[in-house]
Amino acid sequence: MAGFVEDEDELRSFRGECLCGGVRYVLHGTPRKLRLCHCHQCRSGTGAAFNVSVPVEEDAVSFEARDTIREFESSPGKFRAFCGTCGAAVYSRRTSRPGNLRLRGGLIRDLPRAEDLRHIFWKDRWPWIDTIDDAPKSPAEEPAA
Ligand SMILES: [Zn+2]
Ligand SMILES: [Zn+2]
Repeated sequence: MAGFVEDEDELRSFRGECLCGGVRYVLHGTPRKLRLCHCHQCRSGTGAAFNVSVPVEEDAVSFEARDTIREFESSPGKFRAFCGTCGAAVYSRRTSRPGNLRLRGGLIRDLPRAEDLRHIFWKDRWPWIDTIDDAPKSPAEEPAA
């Protein structure tokens, strides 16, 4: 049965889209790995508490729209791509690892949890990040006071 599940995973595809729709892609296959990166660069580059990074092979991504993509070289050989219209972080890539992209998970609406899920740069996390599960949860916006 394991083989069956694997085949199903390979048949699945996921749509990614930035906030303005200027970047759109289809990711073919279920991501095997997710990395939650707590480094300061990822926070600054995404505006989020941590970056949900989805390492994939470039071949698995079919871009339907990508004209608005801009790239910023955040450290030598490391490029962070974002949408030049809405500012969404789209992926990062390293020249030392051609053919690999690290997609930014927030663009993928129904991103499933991968078996291989790991926090990285945990030492750089906001010290209170481990307590966020305890915070009250509003179904949508915060109720009016
Ligand atoms: Zn956009
Ligand atoms: Zn990072």
